[in-house]
Amino acid sequence: MPEQFDLIAIGGGSGGLSVAERAAAHGARCALVERARLGGTCVNLGCVPKKMMWYAAHVAETLEDARGYGFDVELRGHDWKALKAARDRHIQGINDWYRNYLADSDITLVEGEARLVDARTVEVDGRRLAAEHIVLAPGGRPAVPAVEGAQLGLTSDGFFALEALPRRVAVVGAGYIAVEIAGVLNALGAEVTLLLRGEQLLRRFDPMLREALMEEMLAQGVNIIPRAQIGSLRRDGDGLAICCVQGQVLGGFDAVIWAIGRRPNTEGLGLEAAGVEVDADGHIPVDAYQNTNVPGIYAVGDVTGRAMLTPVAIAAGRRLADRLFGGRPDARLDYELIPTVVFSHPPIGTVGLSEDEARDLHGEAVKCYTTRFTPLYHALSGRDTRTAMKLVCVGAQERVVGLHVIGRDADEILQGFAVALRMGATKADLDRTVAIHPTSAEELVTMR
Ligand SMILES: Cc1cc2nc3c(=O)[nH]c(=O)nc-3n(C[C@H](O)[C@H](O)[C@H](O)COP(=O)(O)OP(=O)(O)OC[C@H]3O[C@@H](n4cnc5c(N)ncnc54)[C@H](O)[C@@H]3O)c2cc1C
Repeated sequence: MPEQFDLIAIGGGSGGLSVAERAAAHGARCALVERARLGGTCVNLGCVPKKMMWYAAHVAETLEDARGYGFDVELRGHDWKALKAARDRHIQGINDWYRNYLADSDITLVEGEARLVDARTVEVDGRRLAAEHIVLAPGGRPAVPAVEGAQLGLTSDGFFALEALPRRVAVVGAGYIAVEIAGVLNALGAEVTLLLRGEQLLRRFDPMLREALMEEMLAQGVNIIPRAQIGSLRRDGDGLAICCVQGQVLGGFDAVIWAIGRRPNTEGLGLEAAGVEVDADGHIPVDAYQNTNVPGIYAVGDVTGRAMLTPVAIAAGRRLADRLFGGRPDARLDYELIPTVVFSHPPIGTVGLSEDEARDLHGEAVKCYTTRFTPLYHALSGRDTRTAMKLVCVGAQERVVGLHVIGRDADEILQGFAVALRMGATKADLDRTVAIHPTSAEELVTMR
């Protein structure tokens, strides 16, 4: 007989942990299956280690800026190993915290690889668990291109495992993970080449953000190569060489990092046995309530292919548990107006429609306000970097449907403005708000 639960979550990352935690808080008997480390991608191989590396890069920049503020600073070096060891210790602490939390919450942790046997039963290393409700939250993994020698390169997972700063690095990709890794390595002293398949970085972002970031990265010394079609990767003496389809060979790299996207972890999950459908990319399609095509089986987080961010996986998991066990039959996550930050140098904060998207939807009714300025901090830092902002407004009321910032502190500025947009703020509401001076954020309530 299988062990009986009310809910089984497959995956102990942001989505799986959240749905199980909330369901248990509502009194459901829950099991959570995880094959690797608790916390999933975000804690172990994503947001948390990434933000720590970004902070390290930020400190490196601040040390350079210090001279402008009168400090006589002599930088004698950077101990990558020590940084990594401290980072790993912190993450181990989070792993341990989750383990205790699950035990305290009476959630049964089952360690191993989960596979659906049918629509109500999960098998983990021969152990059978059954539940009325099964939540699929297996997340994803970095994609590697199908080119000769691809295995010589690293992915974001390998980046976090590096024991030393590679001196010459190629980062392949144009998305947020590519620009974040390139930015960190560059700030910490590596010589970085960023290879794009097309012309642009961050293709789906507002053009102002794309262009400003491209300018900043070039000014900081990142070598950006557009239209690079990679044919193969090969050893080149002690290093690695990238051979482009066009015939160009770029050699002498200590590391090549693929950051070309992510693939869902749906193989080997037994989806066929339960009749769960996947789309052409392997993602699990869900309706507005996270239902898959099989009643009683749900999917949350990256595996659904929608807004692949930790707070989205968490919110979707919690709403689902509220709906199933919390007496809130209409609870569901609204996927509109999800704010997001790119931890580039400088960072980007963005919420709502880009100007292009707004014009496609609303045509002539769109009005944009933009500004570009040097933040006060950089008046003395000596660093030639600027902040750019854009408000995308629609209709006679000028409802703000998009807000985009690139510049120092954009990461921390955005959250409050995202609340305003969700509440339907208009340009006039922003104008009526008294500015906080002197800040960069005040420009968002004083734009003409
Ligand atoms: C480099 C990087 C940086 C990122 N930075 C940010 C950021 O700054 N902000 C942000 O919001 N998001 C960020 N993300 C995205 C974020 O990490 C994901 O959106 C989030 O982790 C998704 O949660 P999830 O629960 O869907 O999947 P995951 O966190 O990936 O968890 C899935 C878990 O399921 C387990 N699993 C898979 N298959 C099985 C199986 N068959 N049996 C048992 N267990 C299984 C896996 O081991 C994993 O632990 C980043 C991602 C990366 C890669």
